[in-house]
Amino acid sequence: MKFIPIANPQISEVEAKAVYKVVKKGWISMGKNVQNLEEKIEKFLNVKNAILFNNGTSSLHAALLAYDVKLGDEVIVPTLSYISSANVVLYCGAKPIFCDSDEMTFNTDAEKIISKITKKTKAIITTDLKGMPVDFFDIKKKLKKYNIPLISDSAESFGADYKNDKVGKQFDIHSFSFFANKNITMGEGGLITCQNSSLAKKIRIIRNQGQNRRYNHILLGNNFRLTDYAAAIGIEQLKKIDKVINEKNKIADYYNKFLDRNNIDIPFIPKYVTRHSWYMYCIKLKKKSLRNKFLKYLHKNKIDTRLSFPPIHLQPLYRKKFSLKSNIFPSSKSAFDAFVDIPCWFGMKQSQIKYIVNKINNFFK
Ligand SMILES: *Cc1c(COP(=O)(O)O)cnc(C)c1O
Repeated sequence: MKFIPIANPQISEVEAKAVYKVVKKGWISMGKNVQNLEEKIEKFLNVKNAILFNNGTSSLHAALLAYDVKLGDEVIVPTLSYISSANVVLYCGAKPIFCDSDEMTFNTDAEKIISKITKKTKAIITTDLKGMPVDFFDIKKKLKKYNIPLISDSAESFGADYKNDKVGKQFDIHSFSFFANKNITMGEGGLITCQNSSLAKKIRIIRNQGQNRRYNHILLGNNFRLTDYAAAIGIEQLKKIDKVINEKNKIADYYNKFLDRNNIDIPFIPKYVTRHSWYMYCIKLKKKSLRNKFLKYLHKNKIDTRLSFPPIHLQPLYRKKFSLKSNIFPSSKSAFDAFVDIPCWFGMKQSQIKYIVNKINNFFK
């Protein structure tokens, strides 16, 4: 068996040809392809406004800028997320207030968020960890009386369904990423979806150095623009998204059915998740003390794995800056200690999937 990587972007000749066409035309900065892809995404996700960015960190940053998050403000962020979710708060001069995750879903929930709300709370970010949507409507309902903007870091859940509807319009703003290991990619790329058109207009201005027309800067923006050749790749990638997610769902179904449940917790999927994006398929070892041995064993058997990103409150930058103790979010910490991502990507052969299940189950024999 050849080495099985953790992810395998589906980039081929069609993407190369699309890029070549843009290069040959000579307009490589943001242009017609970006606009075209935005329209296609609006249709695919059934959202009013799709705004492309150069990466998913920029798009999340722009969301906070759109709500004027600034020095003295607090933004609630799940600690079990990628570093960008908190960094964007610091970029605005505000303070990230971390919250814990649920023991079953590893996503945050309304109660955990509400316990962190203060007078200073300016916005709330949630994360669709591993590509599994949070319970958007429950959070929205329980937080309604606070009237605080809700931003979803949906970087990992592009193409997933929440209650039979595409993720992208449940919260005020959703931010997505098209980094190379995401379900579809442009190498780098980001996206904001937003149902409020005046807010969307502001976000477009922020993306383009705060200009409402050339050299007239009305807001503090940034250069968050996507290149037109990246968008050309995106147009080809978008055609593949349903196939990619469907196939990942089949692989996940196989894992769910055949992995040794006496020793492994498979992902828990609540009813409101009607289509998981399976950005990553993540198992949890019942005995986390076995994890190092397990990882070495899989590596020796040529199966690539990833540990999740550590909870953000444990990152040296945040621990020091805010004097955070390591034991404050037990659920996130214990999840991180037992998580192992295993390969689940479009194009995996049945023989590879079976091989992985056999090797994993044999470890516990
Ligand atoms: C990938 C990712 C991002 C950041 O996206 P980039 O495009 O790499 O900037 C943000 N949040 C989460 C949860 C992610 O997985």
